[in-house]
Amino acid sequence: GQFWHVSDLHLDPTYHITDDHTKVCSSSNGANASNPGPFGDFLCDSPYQLILSAFKYMKDSEQQASFMIWTGDSPPHVPVGELSTEIVINVIGNMTSTIRSFFPDLQVFPALGNHDYWPQDQLPVSANEVYNAVANFWTPWLTDDAVSTFKKGGFYTQLFQSNASSQPLRIISLNTNLYYSPNHVTLNITDPANQLAWLESTLEISLQKQEKVYVIGHVPVGYLPFARNTTAIREYYNERLVKIFRKYSGVIAGQFFGHTHRDSIMILLDERENPINSLFVAPAVTPVKSVFQKESNNPGIRLYQYDPFHYNLLDLWQFYLNLTDANMKNESDWKLEYILTKAYDIEDLKPENLYEMAKQFAIPHSKLFQQYYNNFIVSYNKSIVCEGDCKTSQICAMQYLDHSSYTDCIQRGKYIGHHF
Ligand SMILES: [Zn+2]
Ligand SMILES: [Zn+2]
Repeated sequence: GQFWHVSDLHLDPTYHITDDHTKVCSSSNGANASNPGPFGDFLCDSPYQLILSAFKYMKDSEQQASFMIWTGDSPPHVPVGELSTEIVINVIGNMTSTIRSFFPDLQVFPALGNHDYWPQDQLPVSANEVYNAVANFWTPWLTDDAVSTFKKGGFYTQLFQSNASSQPLRIISLNTNLYYSPNHVTLNITDPANQLAWLESTLEISLQKQEKVYVIGHVPVGYLPFARNTTAIREYYNERLVKIFRKYSGVIAGQFFGHTHRDSIMILLDERENPINSLFVAPAVTPVKSVFQKESNNPGIRLYQYDPFHYNLLDLWQFYLNLTDANMKNESDWKLEYILTKAYDIEDLKPENLYEMAKQFAIPHSKLFQQYYNNFIVSYNKSIVCEGDCKTSQICAMQYLDHSSYTDCIQRGKYIGHHF
């Protein structure tokens, strides 16, 4: 079987071509757009045309996908005052109908992003206007049970039957935005919306029933690969999630996130450093970066292959749009960027194989790691290299998701100097 993963669409409805480059898009926040064209600009969020081109490519590719996961963040990066609850709800509704118009019969499993609320990041722990409106948009995809759980906390679980003879797959869509560091609403709450308790009991039931689970969410667990000593969610919640994922790694067949806008892989290790889970962070459709960042990403979408009986992950095909070329040719030429097993010469996406791959990356001057880094920025710029501290952060974030093992890795990296 196969499934699509799209993330971080970040529609900017104000995007338009004009001679005054400060006025191309609100999301450039007054900066000059760098090279604006019909499919966007690296200082702007997605024009609608870019989003349409991504879904059109997916549809025209005629890949047989049995479902799609969509890990959130539909509104643009603009100051709080330029959005409102109504606008945010409208943008999510618009993106939902766009997906439905391209794939009217496809099962989609969505998750909320930190931008899918107003004010951004402040997702609440109980029922509110946004969860309610979004749940209504998503009723064509979700069961009544999922809709009612979602209305209370922005998360849900639902079964997916891949074929009549196999056992169903359980999707757990988490609202990890409740744990996101800038979310002030959840400060000092030990278990926001009781999601952690719900997650544990859902996984416990899955274990009893011998189900397989895919965990999806927006903000990923673990450490940010491009920063030092920084988790995307608060460390306290990160430690608790890692503990739960370790305990139930036997039922979890894969984890899928977005939010960083970059393409990265994590391997969850148990306390004795055995690889027990594979986690994937999908790059964004939006190419946006801030003026202060050196790097961005080309727009990306991806397709996973899985074994339809046990839901083990077999491979991942990453597609991308070379934004500069597309704007120059006035044509959206989406292409295959890489096939994971071929790019890194591994058999499948099992945690043991990804762990072996990470060990290869750690070897000094590893060509495979340069390939990984180029994929990390979705082929944004092949001449950018990641060495020294940059590489240490990447290699440690890939393999160490909890505080103590991550800190050890960083210390080791420093001590050995050029080890990575
Ligand atoms: Zn985003
Ligand atoms: Zn986000």
